[in-house]
Amino acid sequence: MSTHHQILIIGGGTAGIMVASQMLKKDKSLDIGLIEPADTHYYQPAWTLVGAGTYDYDNTARSMSSVMPKGVKWIKDFATSFSPDRNTVSTKGSGDITYDYLVVAPGLRMAPELVKGLPEAMDKGVVCSNYTNSKHTWDVLQNFKGGVALFTQPTTPIKCGGAPQKIMYLAENYFRKNGLKDKTKIVFATPGSVIFGVKPIAKTLMEVIDRKDINIRFHHKLVEVDAEKQIAWYELGKDIKAGGCVVMSGDNDGKPLDDSIQYNYKDIGTIKEGGRYGIKFDMMHLAPPQASPKFIAESPLANEGGWLSVNDKTMQHTKFSNVFGLGDVAQLPTAKTGAAIRKQVPVVVGNILNLIKSNDLANKEYNGYSSCPLVTDYGKMVLAEFTYGSVFAPDPKLKQFPLMISDSSKEHWRLWILKKYLLPYLYWNKMMKGENV
Ligand SMILES: Cc1cc2nc3c(=O)[nH]c(=O)nc-3n(C[C@H](O)[C@H](O)[C@H](O)COP(=O)(O)OP(=O)(O)OC[C@H]3O[C@@H](n4cnc5c(N)ncnc54)[C@H](O)[C@@H]3O)c2cc1C
Repeated sequence: MSTHHQILIIGGGTAGIMVASQMLKKDKSLDIGLIEPADTHYYQPAWTLVGAGTYDYDNTARSMSSVMPKGVKWIKDFATSFSPDRNTVSTKGSGDITYDYLVVAPGLRMAPELVKGLPEAMDKGVVCSNYTNSKHTWDVLQNFKGGVALFTQPTTPIKCGGAPQKIMYLAENYFRKNGLKDKTKIVFATPGSVIFGVKPIAKTLMEVIDRKDINIRFHHKLVEVDAEKQIAWYELGKDIKAGGCVVMSGDNDGKPLDDSIQYNYKDIGTIKEGGRYGIKFDMMHLAPPQASPKFIAESPLANEGGWLSVNDKTMQHTKFSNVFGLGDVAQLPTAKTGAAIRKQVPVVVGNILNLIKSNDLANKEYNGYSSCPLVTDYGKMVLAEFTYGSVFAPDPKLKQFPLMISDSSKEHWRLWILKKYLLPYLYWNKMMKGENV
């Protein structure tokens, strides 16, 4: 069995639906097939707010049929493998599908198995993650009675790199409101060496860290979670060892860590065992390790790391010229966000439509734009917008009515309104409908 589509899209997430709807807006006569197995489409950015009890989870979900653009042939199935030399995608139950142009957008997968003990610990008891079950995060925050609140993230690429710290800022606010702050030590253990790679944003966030009295531990690689004993085990980054820095207080003697790898030290009785350091926690929020979907990683479309290999400006595959890719699955040196996809979609759409018309790429290029709405309190937010090379690049539209934000690198209540109300509205009513907002 084999069917054919002029344009075949894999994935009905943020990227796949936006590509299909923008294409059809430009030309209703296009023959577009879209492979997507799921019944539900999620607005994932609001999971941060769900985890802090300020957004209804049900409002982050809509039926896939309601977002599938009219005119698209929905193939409700899994793509399983690729034969790009024969312009063919195989599926689990719908046979082979051939195409003139292919758009690959199946997102990424959670890979908790990369950290020992994590699959058993995920989303149970006091371990939670907005990435996988934001409702459980809210339960954990509400049940927390004080102690060490650990927030952490893995060494793999993750979607929305700011999300692990957004929930920490909201949790601190929640603990403060509920009289738990004095009984709580908040620790952020990150493999990174800075709080955020964009300088003006990092400056504001370090002020937030000071205000909230948070202990940051840099260069920490999570290697094991012991759910029973509530210990997160870390190795310290190789570059630190290579740099010869004094890393942690040797025998848990309460001495502060070296300043270059920690900030605002709190004595939480770090445990040392072999070459590893254990942090005993009373609650832990983490972003699990994340990876490219297996059927991509094992395909001829992947690069060495398993991610989809695309040109970072044109979004065209680096080997197969009728294949394009975008969204979380794509290997791009920028942050994996829906905001980035908003800028990638017109490039993919423009290039494919131009190839159909004149056998040439359009004159459109993606500049690496991505953005991260960093909520810092209930009612406050900083908006990190940047391009390749982590260059701060605020959208001039923010200065216009009704937002009137003069400097989005500073915390502002109007940015919170943008996050909680305006962005979800724009997502469902404009972006999903093919409008270039
Ligand atoms: C907690 C959290 C907070 C976030 N906050 C923000 C934020 O504030 N701002 C922001 O811009 N972004 C944020 N993001 C990131 C944003 O949601 C993602 O970057 C975006 O959804 C990625 O879109 P995508 O289309 O690449 O993947 P997805 O939206 O994940 O969609 C992938 C689709 O592909 C389908 N699929 C998978 N495998 C197959 C297969 N084999 N065959 C066919 N289809 C398949 C899936 O079912 C899914 O529907 C956040 C994400 C999380 C988890």
